Amino acid sequence: MRLTLLLSTANEHKKREMSEICSPHTLLVPSDIGVSAEYDETGTTFLENALGKARALAARIGPDGYREHRIDAVIADDSGICVDALDGGPGVYSARYGMLSDGTRLEPIEQIRRMLEELDDAEDRRAHYTCCMTAVCADGRVAVAEGRLYGEIARTPSIGTGGFGYDPIFHLPDRNCCVADISNAEKHRISHRGRATRALLAALATMCRGNA
Ligand code: IMP
Repeated sequence: MRLTLLLSTANEHKKREMSEICSPHTLLVPSDIGVSAEYDETGTTFLENALGKARALAARIGPDGYREHRIDAVIADDSGICVDALDGGPGVYSARYGMLSDGTRLEPIEQIRRMLEELDDAEDRRAHYTCCMTAVCADGRVAVAEGRLYGEIARTPSIGTGGFGYDPIFHLPDRNCCVADISNAEKHRISHRGRATRALLAALATMCRGNA
């Protein structure tokens, strides 16, 4: 069964990554159908933000939008890095980690530098990425899935150019390299986002089949 999904994002990198993970399903983003992806992530949990984002976009397109574009579900994610020695932070605030008092966000490379400084020579460097994926169908039914990738924070950034965000310092002990050193395809196979998305797609396939 091929699904048509509308992903709540205005981020080109996320669109590309999610299109690869969701293949062979069709992935649309709000700009493809001329609607706004705007959403203020004010939640305190990944689930709250992801579900809020999917519900807001579902309400924006309404039943007519689902019909017109043959959308099976509106989907949204929220993700972040949780570091044990930082009490699970920055977690849901990962994108805003190190934000300046005037609201300016740091570049990923600056966030990495800041995290390495904050951890200093801490022995416990365990961390995980979490991704919460949600889907809202036209009839209001909801599906939720979570995926995690466990690793540790490296002491120095890798020179690898793969991935984004914290990937240059997210070390995978069983591979002895960082996420920035592996291919996109390999990242999708093991990543929090890949795992959560595949679980969500499996749930959606069952829900939509029941609908047919
Ligand atoms: P959001 O899910 O778009 O709100 O982004 C959450 C933030 O978590 C990103 O801006 C990154 O800083 C971080 N993040 C989430 N997933 C990854 C990943 O796969 N690699 C590196 N950083 C990530």
